[in-house]
Amino acid sequence: MTKYADLHIHTTASDGDYSPEAVVRAAKAQGFSALAITDHDTLSGLAEAQKISKEIGIELLTGVEISTVHQEKEVHILGYLIDPTNEYLQEKLNLMNNYRQERIAKMVKRLNDVGYEISLNRVYEISGQGAIGRPHVAKALWEKGYIKNIKEAFLKLLSPGCPAYIPRFKITPEEAIELITTAGGIPVLAHPGINLDDDLIPYLKNTGLMGLEVWHPEHSSQMVEKYYKIATQLDLLMTGGSDWHGNNKDASFSLGVIKVDYYHVEKLKLKHIEIRK
Ligand code: AMP
Ligand code: FE
Ligand code: FE
Ligand code: ZN
Repeated sequence: MTKYADLHIHTTASDGDYSPEAVVRAAKAQGFSALAITDHDTLSGLAEAQKISKEIGIELLTGVEISTVHQEKEVHILGYLIDPTNEYLQEKLNLMNNYRQERIAKMVKRLNDVGYEISLNRVYEISGQGAIGRPHVAKALWEKGYIKNIKEAFLKLLSPGCPAYIPRFKITPEEAIELITTAGGIPVLAHPGINLDDDLIPYLKNTGLMGLEVWHPEHSSQMVEKYYKIATQLDLLMTGGSDWHGNNKDASFSLGVIKVDYYHVEKLKLKHIEIRK
């Protein structure tokens, strides 16, 4: 029997719809042997996920997805097998989350100024416990009928160049790689097929990148083939996952659409042991 994993999943700790417990249970129900929870810029879902994964018997890899900026472009760096108790990592993520709150307040104010009547309180209600972000603003706009769907909110209002857009906390991919490595984790470049130049991969490898996300719902089979080759050539680990957010994103991002051979989890774990020596 082949064992498989999903190494890229969001929960209510960031902009996913389902709690860490619900996500772990769903992965178990679908027959996954392992999963990684990779919330945006936060570790706050990991304790709950760890507890439930032990109870029901599915392997959980600690994870995080750090949002960074490189030459004006958004670059996401995944960190696997990080130590969630690492103070340096916690401190930096706290800083990023404080900034997230300021930023969303400013974005809501701008939307109000141009006539979209949504309240910051409502955006916080929607975000729940999680790291607040643009998807929560999008939902508030949607439920008031200002837009047809979440994508439209991003397209018209919430992306760079739009009136309500405020940039994120500026951290570079190099800094995120360093941060993850310091916390004992393995830094991996997320979904390179979404808007990134291939040149970035060898560049980041030279700054300490250890893996490449080869399998992702937005990667065509040609892209998968290409990134598989690049990872092999550059001796990078390979990962993949559904980037499941619950109902926030379309069905192509559902749990079960990406099944990564457990072999790659073993490689991650071996690397983790190797770097701790
Ligand atoms: P933030 O971290 O607040 O900048 O929000 C970024 C998140 O918004 C991403 O991680 C996605 O989950 C979501 N997102 C970005 N662009 C889009 C889009 N065009 N449609 C739907 N969701 C998006
Ligand atoms: Fe997201
Ligand atoms: Fe991402
Ligand atoms: Zn993601």
